[in-house]
Amino acid sequence: MKKLLLIKYGELTTKKGNRKTFIKLLVKNIQAVLADEDYQIRYDRVRMYIESDSLTTIQEKLTKVFGIHSIVECYQVNTNMEEIASSLVTLLKDVSFQTFKVETKRADKDFSIHSMEVSRRLGGVILKNFPCKVDVHNPEMKIEVEIRKEGTFLYVREIAGIGGYPVGIQGKGLLMLSGGIDSPVAGYLSLKRGVDLECLYFESPPHTSLEAKNKVVKLASILNAYSGNLKVLVVPFTKLQEEIYKNVPESYVITIMRRMMYRIASKIIERRRLKVIFNGESVGQVASQTLDSMRVINSVTNIPVIRPVACMDKLEIIELAKKIGTYETSILPYEDCCTIFLPKHPVINPDLEKCLLYESFFDYESLVEECVQNIEVISLKETKKDELL
Ligand code: ATP
Ligand code: MG
Repeated sequence: MKKLLLIKYGELTTKKGNRKTFIKLLVKNIQAVLADEDYQIRYDRVRMYIESDSLTTIQEKLTKVFGIHSIVECYQVNTNMEEIASSLVTLLKDVSFQTFKVETKRADKDFSIHSMEVSRRLGGVILKNFPCKVDVHNPEMKIEVEIRKEGTFLYVREIAGIGGYPVGIQGKGLLMLSGGIDSPVAGYLSLKRGVDLECLYFESPPHTSLEAKNKVVKLASILNAYSGNLKVLVVPFTKLQEEIYKNVPESYVITIMRRMMYRIASKIIERRRLKVIFNGESVGQVASQTLDSMRVINSVTNIPVIRPVACMDKLEIIELAKKIGTYETSILPYEDCCTIFLPKHPVINPDLEKCLLYESFFDYESLVEECVQNIEVISLKETKKDELL
C-alpha cells in the first residue's frame, strides 16, 4: 500500500479560462515551499498527487499554500477485492467513526465488478470489523474508492487547505509593513487573494532602533511562509521626518507624515512596476484613520490603496494575527516612526488646504526623491531565521 497526498484545487476551479495558468502557478508555488523536500508531483486539470517518504512534513507545509482547497490522504493499492478490503480495514483502525458510507468510482471499465457492488461488499467488510452503521446521507466517514488502470485509490481523510488564490496570480502589490499587529494581517489577507508582495518599511534611525527594523524583517519572514518571494524595502525616513517636525504645526505632523509615506510608496510602485498599495489601516482606529483623515491623506496618490483590515475590529485582527503566527512578534515593544514624537492632539478632520500650505514650507519633493533613491532591499531568501532578533 502506497500513501500519496491528493491536492484539490480551491476557488480556481471556477475560473474556467484561466485554469491552466492557475494550476501552473500553484505547482510553482508548491515547488517553492517544498524546495527542501524530496518528492514527486503529478497533476492534471482536476487534481494533483504528491508522493514522498516525508509526507507528514510536506502536508504541514502545504497547509500554508494558497489555492489549495483540501488535502486528502490517499492510498494506492493493487486492484483486487481482497487487497482493497484488507487495506481499508488496516486504514480504518486508526480512525474513530460511528457512521460511514462507501462511494466507488470505476474509471477502469475492464474491472468486472460494478461500482455499486464494490461499495456494497466493502461496506459489508467494514460492518463486520468495526462497531458502526451505514449512513448514506450524513456519514461521519466518507470512504471513496476509485478504480483506475494504474491501481485502486482509497481516500480516507480530507484535511482543509487554506483556500484563496495561488500567490502571484494577481501580480505584486506593495505592503506598508510596520511592526504593529494590523499590517502583517493585512499582508496575509492580500497574499490570500493571490497578490504577491514587496514590503515597505519606513525607518527613522536613531529615533527608531535596529531591533525595530529586525522585528519588521522577522514579521516579513513569517509572512514569507505563504509566499516564498517577499522582499523588504527599507526607506531611510529620518531626514524627511525631522523636516516635517520642524515645519508643520504639531497637530498636523502625523497627517503630513502619512501623506509623505503615500507619496514615497507611489513612486516605488511606479519604479518597481508593482500594482497597488496595501496597508493595515482600520477605520477609526487612530486619528489618522478617520474617514476625513483617510480622504486627505489618500489624495496625494491615484494609485489604489487596499486596506484589507479596514472594517475588522481590533479583536478580530488580533485573533487572525495569532492564527498566522505574527502576534507574538508584533507585540514586542519596539518603537515605530509613527509612535515617536506622537502629538498630544492629532487632528482628526484635517483640512486639505492647510496640508498644502504646511507642505509649501519646505522642499519635500527632493526629500521624498532622496528616500526613494536610497531604499535598502532585503531579500528574505538570504536572511537566516536565527539572525533575526
Ligand atoms: P499596525 O497598524 O501594523 O498594527 P500601527 O497600528 O502601529 O501598526 P498605524 O499607526 O495604525 O500602525 O499605521 C497604519 C498603517 O500604516 C500600518 O498598518 C502600516 O500599514 C502603515 N505604517 C505605519 N507605520 C509604518 C512604517 N514605519 N513603515 C511602513 N508602514 C507603516
Ligand atoms: Mg494600526
